Amino acid sequence: MFRVRFHGRGGQGIKTAGRILGTAFFLEGFEVQDAPRYGAERRGAPIFSYVRAATAPVRERGVIHRPNLVVVTDETLVQLPAAHVDEGIGARTVLLINSRHTAEEWRRRFSFSCRLVVFNGGQFSSEGDQVPAGTVCAGAAARLLGVISRSSLAGAIAEELAGHGAEAVAATEEAALAAFDALAGDSGLVSPQAPAAGGREAGSDWVDLAAEPVPEAAPTITAAGTSRLVQTGLWRTRRPVLDRSLCSRCHICLALCPEGGIGLDEEGFPVIDYRHCKGCLICAAQCPRHAIDTIPESSVEEEQSVGEEP
Ligand code: SF4
Ligand code: SF4
Repeated sequence: MFRVRFHGRGGQGIKTAGRILGTAFFLEGFEVQDAPRYGAERRGAPIFSYVRAATAPVRERGVIHRPNLVVVTDETLVQLPAAHVDEGIGARTVLLINSRHTAEEWRRRFSFSCRLVVFNGGQFSSEGDQVPAGTVCAGAAARLLGVISRSSLAGAIAEELAGHGAEAVAATEEAALAAFDALAGDSGLVSPQAPAAGGREAGSDWVDLAAEPVPEAAPTITAAGTSRLVQTGLWRTRRPVLDRSLCSRCHICLALCPEGGIGLDEEGFPVIDYRHCKGCLICAAQCPRHAIDTIPESSVEEEQSVGEEP
């Protein structure tokens, strides 16, 4: 059985990535199960998607705890404990990271015990096409599995994105197939595992947690003034950037920012607090002078990725 776990952020097409990979497996004659798992419903939140495929009926259910392929569409999730990227990873697991950094750099930063493949998905789609990272990674993942053909991948994209129009299908196909071609050297790197006995994966049993009153279980939730301690800047996939030459200092953006994340400098221009700006982009949408542009977080230098100042 193939067990694939996608990790990404809201807005990156993680659910679609799982569906594309699942349909591509299906077109190859596999029995398939795919399901997304959501956390908080917001742009930038960690999202999971699971795909199981086998030549016999798939009887396992639920979260994939022991994947043989883990796909990370957003490199910032690797070091985020809440994303659980490393859960159940063993020596035979393949970890695919969409990153501008090299595999050597990742190995230096983390002592991975698994097989590591790093590719830069951003190079396969132009900014104008807006192809979500998840669907590009689905193309790369299909190649690593070694049992999905180019035509099945293209067929799956056409089927899953049919409702989005011919242009979206063409742009996604181009990017996902380019990723598929680029990883030709790693084709078949992922080996299937035996299905779990009794159709139940080890570790997937329900766990009953003892309930405690909130003040004892989570004292920081009920304490006053703790929102400044939560760095919601980690949630962003795009960041707002002010063009002072267009700004009229009307301060509408300050009033509408739901995080209170915009202050003022000595001249009365807005200053965005990137530690707490969660990337909702309300400020950019509401600015009457179009003085706030948005750029992908991935285009920002690493030391500024959460940073206090642009
Ligand atoms: S809403 Fe636009 S013009 Fe007004 S202060 Fe903010 S950035 Fe400047
Ligand atoms: S994107 Fe703009 S409105 Fe949204 S949190 Fe950031 S600064 Fe505030």
